[in-house]
Order: sequence, then structure tokens, then C-alpha cells
Amino acid sequence: RRKWRRAVEVLREFEEGCATSIGRLGQVVDAMAVEMHAGLASDGGSKLKMLLTFIDNLPDGNAKGTYYALDLGGTNFRVLRVRLGGKGSMIISHQVEYHPIPQELMSGTSEDLFDYIAMTLKQFVERADDGSEQKADEKKELGFTFSFPVRQMSVSSGILVKWTKGFSVEDAVGKDIAQCLEEAMTKAGLNMQVAALQVNDIVGTLALCHYYDKDTVAAVIIGTGTNACYVERTDAIIKCQGLLKNSGGTVVNMEWGNFWSSHLPRTSYDIALDDESPNSNDQGFEKMISGMYLGEITRRVLYRMAQESDIFGDGAYNLSIRFILRTPSMAAMHEDDSPDLREVRRILTETLQVPHVSLRARRLIVRVCDIVTRRAARLAAAGIVGILKKIGRDGSGVASGRAKGTPRRTVVAIEGALYVNYSMFREYLNEAVVEILGEEAAQNVVLRVSEDGSGIGAALLAAAHSSNR
Ligand code: ADP
Repeated sequence: RRKWRRAVEVLREFEEGCATSIGRLGQVVDAMAVEMHAGLASDGGSKLKMLLTFIDNLPDGNAKGTYYALDLGGTNFRVLRVRLGGKGSMIISHQVEYHPIPQELMSGTSEDLFDYIAMTLKQFVERADDGSEQKADEKKELGFTFSFPVRQMSVSSGILVKWTKGFSVEDAVGKDIAQCLEEAMTKAGLNMQVAALQVNDIVGTLALCHYYDKDTVAAVIIGTGTNACYVERTDAIIKCQGLLKNSGGTVVNMEWGNFWSSHLPRTSYDIALDDESPNSNDQGFEKMISGMYLGEITRRVLYRMAQESDIFGDGAYNLSIRFILRTPSMAAMHEDDSPDLREVRRILTETLQVPHVSLRARRLIVRVCDIVTRRAARLAAAGIVGILKKIGRDGSGVASGRAKGTPRRTVVAIEGALYVNYSMFREYLNEAVVEILGEEAAQNVVLRVSEDGSGIGAALLAAAHSSNR
């Protein structure tokens, strides 16, 4: 009996450590806004990198013409062609093709790799004639999504810092990756230029949502990892004065997974997870809110319960194995609405190999899942409101440059399977945004599910930055 009580104590302690009162969330909102300021003031001024994307124009429904996109970020690449009707007629058609990258090209020369991509792109352009009025010899505009560490130099250029994900095309490191592609395209006889280079598809997600809805000011992704970008006033980007010509807004990639604040409710489980991670002291926000980690935090609490009580019987079984409980399984336990928590039992038995857990103990497990997810969703909500606060769109009336009493509609694009597929997470997040902003201000804020921006979003970025716009 004492042992059961000990399990409950572990739960209570954890719950207290994860508390996200409205006061606490307010502190996180403020911390996010403050860190954003610091990251914009100087490089290294904050754990938030606040990277410049040089995207100073987002597409809207008036964009017109045929645009292309290339998405390279792994062992496959994608080519797309998008036809835009203009005047709100939206996307008339789009075509996509997937191509594998031959193994030998992943560790060969930069020339071979880009020649291959350029040839594939050329064949696609010739094949994918969909009756649009674009002439064969007309200059074509490409949005290039290149998901590797790149130091962006302008809207259409960036230096490769290093390869990841199994690539080792060493002579490309230190080169402008857009230029490499353009040289190969010229060689292949393809009249196409890189109008926009995006090194993080979050920007394309913002572009895509903005295309459909002009009030979109930010995009957030919550999937395996998490990130956000938003439109910042160019004159607020202190660290890059002079580099940016547009006087209006520029998209800033926050890399918000690395956000940190002492106001974040952190428990001993989070600390241990971080200590044992390959990137300890980094991605602190991500480690509390994204899909990569929620299952693992839950496992750590359950393992502790197993060690300190007998609710799982006398062995901890698979519970000691790191990352064995994936977030989708944890979500399935959390959302199990059968009266006898059948799904929880199934996952305990099949994944964790702890059979014969009592119903009462299974209820405790669901509580753990709930605490982990609720904290994650509420912190993500505070992050979003932090962005809105920074740009004067949180309804508080300061810094908006508008007279009080003229509320302005604000849309935030959200993407990623954690938000889209995990309904409890989504509900907690949505609810917390309203709670933090207050009912009235929340009426002007829309969270809109968007698709990822590495494909069509990139083509739209090309449209917004094409030389004939
Ligand atoms: P990405 O890996 O590019 O972020 P996704 O947006 O598809 O891609 O996110 C995948 C992540 O979302 C998975 O790693 C998992 O953690 C989480 N996830 C996927 N489906 C669910 C689900 N039904 N419930 C909870 N989490 C999920």
C-alpha cells in the first residue's frame, strides 16, 4: 500500500514541477519577446538565433504565372511546377515528381551532384508541359529548398556550412549552393534562375499560408522538432542594418527550439533527458514541447514510478530503454477513452512489455501523459503569444502603431503532426492561447493549419521574388 502511495507521490511531484499557471505562462511570453529583441540586436545576443532569411515579400492571391520548386533535404529530392492564376483564382495546377539521389552522388563532387539535379529538372520542365502559356525559352523562376546548414547571404544565395544526413560532397562546402545549381542549369541548357533560396521550410509554410490569407504574420511547426518564423519590421533588425534594403518587413527564422528561460517549468526528468542527450544545453524549448521528446519524458516518469513502487509488478522491463515510448504511442494512451483503458494495456504489454498493470495504475499513466502534453502545448502557446507580443499583435495595444480600438486580424500558420494529429495537444494549445490573450483579443487571432512549405511554398517564394514581379 505504501508503494502505491509512492507512485502517486511521484506523479504529484511531477505535476507540481510542470505547473503552467497563467502567471507562469505570462512570464514565458515576456521572456520570448525579450529574447527575440536580444537575438535581433546582435549575433549571439540570445539563445534565439533569429536568422535573417532576406525574404522581404510574401506571395498573395494576386501572384500569377508558372513557377518551379526544387526540394533537396535528404536521399530523395522533389521537383514541382505550380501554375498561379492571379486575382484570387489561386493555384490552377501543380505537378510533383520524386527522384532518388544515386548513392555515389552523395559522396562525389559538387559538379556531378548538381549536374544530375539540373538534368532531372530540365527533363521535368520539358515533360511537364501543362498547356500554360509560358514559352519554352522564357526565363523560369525556381524556389530552392535546401535543408542543410547554410549561411544565407541574400534571398537567392547562401554558403554551405557543412553537409548532414549522409551527404559528403566535400568540395561544395564553403560554396554558394544556389550558384552551384545555376551553373549546372546553364550547362544543361535550362533557362532557369534561383529566385529564392530557403534553407528552412518553415519560411515556405509562412509563404503558403500568406498566399491564402494575407493576415498571416508567423508560422510555427510542431512535429518531430519545433521552429517558428515571422515577419519583422526591417528597422527592428538592429544587427543587420544596411544589409537589408526593403523598408517594410523581413522574415526572420527564429530557430525557437533553442529558446531558453528560467521561467520554463523544468523538472528533474527534463534535466536528466538533457544531460544524456547528444546536444545538452541546446534546444531546451524543443526538448519540452516537440514530438521527439514527449514520449521520452513520459517514459522517464513511468520508469521512476516502476523503481519506487510496485505498480508495474516487480520488473521495470523495457521501461529503462531510452526513447522506447514514441510520442504517437504516448498520445494513443492519453487519448484512450475505453472504460477499461484497453489501448493503454496494449501499449504497456506490446511496447513496454509490462503486462498485468491494474486499471487504477493505468489511470495514473494516463495522468502522466496528460501532464507532459498539457505543459508542452501551453508552453508552445506562450511562445506563439510571445511572437505576437513582439510585433504588437497580441491585442495589448502598445507598439502596434494603430489607434486603440481598431483590432487587427492576425493569422498564425501551424504545421506539424504533433499539432495536426494529436487532438489533445491541439486543444490544450488553442485553449491556452485564448487564456493568455483573453477572450476579446483572442477573437482576432486565428491559428490556421497549413501544409509544409518545402514544395509549393518554395514555388510561391519564387513568385514573390521573381525578377519580373
Ligand atoms: P517532421 O518529422 O518533419 O517534423 P511531422 O510533422 O510529420 O514531420 O511530425 C512527426 C512527429 O509528430 C513524429 O515524430 C511524432 O513525434 C509526432 N506525431 C505524429 N503523429 C502523431 C500522433 N498521432 N500523436 C502524437 N504525435 C504524433
